[in-house]
Amino acid sequence: MTDAIVWLRRDLRLSDNLALYEACSRSARVWIAFVLNPPLLENERIGAPLRSVFFDALAALREDLRERGSELVLLRGDFAEQLCALAKRTGAQALFYNEDYEPQAIARDAAVTKALEKQRVRVHASLDHVYFGADEVLRPDGAPYRMFTPYKRRWLDRRAIGKRVPVPSSMAVNGKLASREEIGETQPVPAAGGAFARVSEAIARRRFEAFLDGPISRYAELRDSPQADATSHLSPQLRAGTIGIRTCVESAFALRESSPAAARTSIDAWISELVWREFYQMILRRFPSVADSPFLPQAQRIAWDTPGEQFERWCEGRTGYPIVDAAMRQLNTTGWMHNRLRMITASFLTKHLLVDWHMGERYFERHLIDADLAQNNGGWQWAASTGTDAVPYFRIFNPTAQSRRFDPDGTFIKRMLPELGGLPPDQIHEPRNAIVEHAAARARALAAYGEAFTRRGFEDGAGL
Ligand code: FAD
Repeated sequence: MTDAIVWLRRDLRLSDNLALYEACSRSARVWIAFVLNPPLLENERIGAPLRSVFFDALAALREDLRERGSELVLLRGDFAEQLCALAKRTGAQALFYNEDYEPQAIARDAAVTKALEKQRVRVHASLDHVYFGADEVLRPDGAPYRMFTPYKRRWLDRRAIGKRVPVPSSMAVNGKLASREEIGETQPVPAAGGAFARVSEAIARRRFEAFLDGPISRYAELRDSPQADATSHLSPQLRAGTIGIRTCVESAFALRESSPAAARTSIDAWISELVWREFYQMILRRFPSVADSPFLPQAQRIAWDTPGEQFERWCEGRTGYPIVDAAMRQLNTTGWMHNRLRMITASFLTKHLLVDWHMGERYFERHLIDADLAQNNGGWQWAASTGTDAVPYFRIFNPTAQSRRFDPDGTFIKRMLPELGGLPPDQIHEPRNAIVEHAAARARALAAYGEAFTRRGFEDGAGL
């Protein structure tokens, strides 16, 4: 048995961590490393909220390791150089990591693998951030699914015959971790800035247990209400990997087994959201061009407006539509936005303002604490009707009607926009000094999308 490095990236936890478990099972001693690469520190596509989430989770992980007499090996610089140097310094002959489906991560991992193998270090990749990999839930003809419902059916069938149980990695590390003395000085964890939700393995566990204890049983009923705020808020934890997906899926199914029928419907609805996450991860892996281009080729023909002052007003929550503005204020002040509101604001930007979805995707990316290329891109392309299994282009959310339906008393709006606090429920949803008028904006969007989607050559989805 040799020494090994576990290279953590989006899996900042000790429990239910496959790469860590594999490393501990096959090695005498294990060094847990994270590389603070300049892109993480200053990439314009990583915003301060997500950076804060990662620093928070890293600081907590380092504490967990110190309590076990070890230390997080924090490196700073180029991935390949740093990891090769660490392997040399420790004599480690193997490196374990968990896969990441983002195109840039795939290129990075290939470069690191090549450099380490040249140095005769064996590299092992595990599948950990999703329950089933991108090539495990396929159509009968072997092709990847493009529609969510059949994908989900197949996903559930697959799980019924082969569960993926959480791995006992936090037990497996006992006696295997390199000691603090052996590790010595490492880089400090940068301070997490801003007043964002805290992220760590312990917080994720507590949050998930509290969610399983009550809210999950009413999820189907309350999940669309921004005021009830009845969703799990696990998204930043899943992003940094402070909780494992096998733990989430299997705990939910176990609770389902012992729950009455009404609660089961709710638990099923929550599991379904986890499967949406798997679906979008699979789409990114199998169709990496979605990272830059619309999934539907005909969407490339949409004549977007030049983003100008209207886009800025959308970003700042000054559109004049209270539900849109309240949602953007939630994002800008907390780094999180309720799913229903993400749908409403994304639809407003792309359809009412006819601004290219890439602009909104980037804005969310820089402001969300859970910013994740696969889900963010999937969500934006869904709302913009450019994606796989997206909302049909002619279905254009009426923000006022959405507001009345999902925040009937205007309680959420008043919480985020206290300046509207004096308005009665029948007036709170109405636009005021709005940047566009709904009927006119709708007609313009229908014309622009109609032109792109029904022009000859694309009627049948030709080219898909
Ligand atoms: P819960 O309702 O408790 O759901 C549990 C988990 O399931 C979530 O944490 C998430 O991992 C997954 N999930 C839930 N809804 C979706 C969904 N519609 N699609 C894919 N996965 C889902 N989610 C992100 O994690 N990161 C993003 O960057 C992101 N950007 C989005 C952008 C747009 C325009 C839209 C419409 C949705 C986006 N989502 C994103 C999906 C969803 O809004 C969030 O996952 C959810 O609001 C997070 O809150 P929660 O953890 O309380 O979710």
